[in-house]
Formats: sequence, structure tokens, C-alpha cells
Amino acid sequence: MNLSEPEKLALANGVLTIDVGAVVANYRTLVAQVAPARCAGVVKADSYGLGADKIAPALWQAGCRDFFVALIGEGLALRDILGPEARIYVLNGLPPGAENAAVSANLIPVLNSLAQCRAWKDTGRPAVLQVDSGMSRMGLSVADQEALLADEELLESLDLVLLMSHLANADEPDHEGNLSQHAGFLAASSLFPKLPLSLANSAGSFHGDSFHLDLCRPGAVLYGIEAGPRVVGIKPVVQLEARVGQLRDIPAGASIGYGYQFTADKPMRLATISVGYADGWPRSLSNRGAAWFSGQRLPIVGRVSMDSFVVDAGAVPELAEGDLVELIGEHQSADDVARDAGTIGYEILTNLGRRYHRIYNFSAGGAS
Ligand SMILES: *Cc1c(COP(=O)(O)O)cnc(C)c1O
Repeated sequence: MNLSEPEKLALANGVLTIDVGAVVANYRTLVAQVAPARCAGVVKADSYGLGADKIAPALWQAGCRDFFVALIGEGLALRDILGPEARIYVLNGLPPGAENAAVSANLIPVLNSLAQCRAWKDTGRPAVLQVDSGMSRMGLSVADQEALLADEELLESLDLVLLMSHLANADEPDHEGNLSQHAGFLAASSLFPKLPLSLANSAGSFHGDSFHLDLCRPGAVLYGIEAGPRVVGIKPVVQLEARVGQLRDIPAGASIGYGYQFTADKPMRLATISVGYADGWPRSLSNRGAAWFSGQRLPIVGRVSMDSFVVDAGAVPELAEGDLVELIGEHQSADDVARDAGTIGYEILTNLGRRYHRIYNFSAGGAS
């Protein structure tokens, strides 16, 4: 069935509005922050759930030429979106058997192990070498780096275009791990002396010039979520509104939702919202957190279920079935929701569901 946009909007359980103009403004803020270092765009996980098909081309138009995804499959999709010129790096490396696909789309894998180096060497194609500077997650250990240096044939057959590592504590600028990882990374760079260097994610890009090196790799800041205490000047990107499915009045003593996790101690007016954990609205918000309407906070009562949750709507007698309440926006950010849910803004964004009606705004500079 072919529905018009207003019809789609009318039947949607929620409206997710993504301000691509604000993403571009945040990119420009980062470019100025890290210059003369180059600034990449991290668009893994479908641009943190917001739509790489819309966001990556906007970043390209803003001058971004270096794009990071996590998976080869994401790289293949991004190649189709961006065309042949973009540099597309794949952070999670090269699973065995993925070489041909990576070559076919001219992807630049991040080689994280000696096995990956060996699997890539015969392609003659460019690659990034990642070293582990202390996070113990991905990249060559110091012993692996020495083994690579000792294997001249392997080293010389690799076309390495970048040396990278990743910070484990960039969101805590005073954490001693930042300086020790920086030192470890520079030690590795002296072993591979001719390679350009990349260390900083969003938060690391605000640690001072010594962390910028040749290329920064911000993701979170592009999408307007909190990355670290020194990050300033970033615009919000996401607005999420959810439909009121039903209103009801209950007497004192009535219980609400699965498991009767809330019992009214007075008569209450409730609104049932047509969004649940299947939409990425965390179940951990049961009896925590809120929706907003007309500047009023409507606390969540009872458990969040798969397709709905209930709020105390006593403060807004004008609320009607079909109205939209704010879940992310002016009154509460994705990071506020994350704090209520015991997680981080990254997880809230990347879980945003597929059932919302999506609206993309491309206004230059983004909303203020
Ligand atoms: C996800 C990721 C980034 C981007 O991190 P943000 O905190 O979102 O800026 C950069 N580098 C690596 C290796 C990553 O995995």
C-alpha cells in the first residue's frame, strides 16, 4: 500500500527527527578544533543508529573524506552510498574469507592481528595497522609489533597508510591511562616511523594538540551526545516524540503493568504511550524516567513493555489520545534518558527502533 507522508505520520507510534544540519555543524566544530589535523567521520552502526545513508553524504559535502565503519558489510553499503572516492576504513578488521569483498569495494581494513596482516598482504591494497596501547581490545601487542618488524617480507608487502590506536578513558581527561596510552602509541610509532598517526575519538579530540596527531576519529560528538567533560559547542541532533495510545483514570489501589510493579495510592490519570523496549526504549526505565508534554514532566509508572509504557499524566489534563509526547528533545536529552536507564547516550542512539516515522532536516547549520 502506498501511503502519503501525512498518513505515515498519522499511523506511526513515534516520530524520530534527525537534524542532519546539526551533524554537519558539529563536524565543522570538530574540524576547527583539531586543525591542522584531519578530521574523519565515524559512521559505524548506521551512523550510531541515525542513518548513514543520509549523514555520510552530508559529511562528504562538508569536506569529510575519511570514514570509519566497524564491519566489512557496513563498508560495502557505504561504498554504494558515497561512491568511489571516499576513504572507507573498517575498524573491526578483516574476518577470514572477507578479503575479496573488501578488495572489491576498495575498503581499507584496520589490521588488528598478525593473521590479518598475512591474509591481506597479497592484495597489495592499502591498510591501517592498529596497535594496542593499553585497552586490550584490538590491535597488535608489543610482541606482535616486534614479530611484524622481524618479518621483513610481510612488512614490506603491506601498504600501510595509517597507524592507529584507541583510547579507553578519553571520557575522563585526567585518567592516567590517557597519558600512558599516548606514550605507548608514540613508542609504537617510532617502530613504524613513516606512518601518519590516529589516536583520538570524540573526547580525545578535546585533550589538547598532542592527541590530534594526523587524523582524529570522532563519532559521538557528530551526533550530539555527551562524549567527555571538555567537549563544548555541540548541537543536539535527535528529537523523539511518541504517540499517546490511550488515556485512563484509575482509582486508588489499582496496579499498573506487568508484575504490578506500581500501585496507585490515590486516583490517577494515566497515559499509555505506544513505544516500548522493541523500539529501543529501555526496559530499565521501568518506574524511572519520564516523558514530557507542555513543559510538564510525566513520570513513568510500572514496567516498560515491548510496545508500550505508562506515564502519570495528572499534570496535563489537556493531553489527548493521538498526541505526541517528548521522549528526547528540549526537556531531556538522549544522555538524560541514558542516566535514568543506567547506560550511556551511545546505547540509547544505537538502539533507536525501526518503527518510528523518521524525518530528516537538512537546514544549514542545524537548529540552534
Ligand atoms: C567508535 C570508535 C570511535 C569513535 O568514538 P566516539 O567516542 O564515538 O567518538 C573511534 N575509534 C574507534 C576505534 C572506535 O571504535
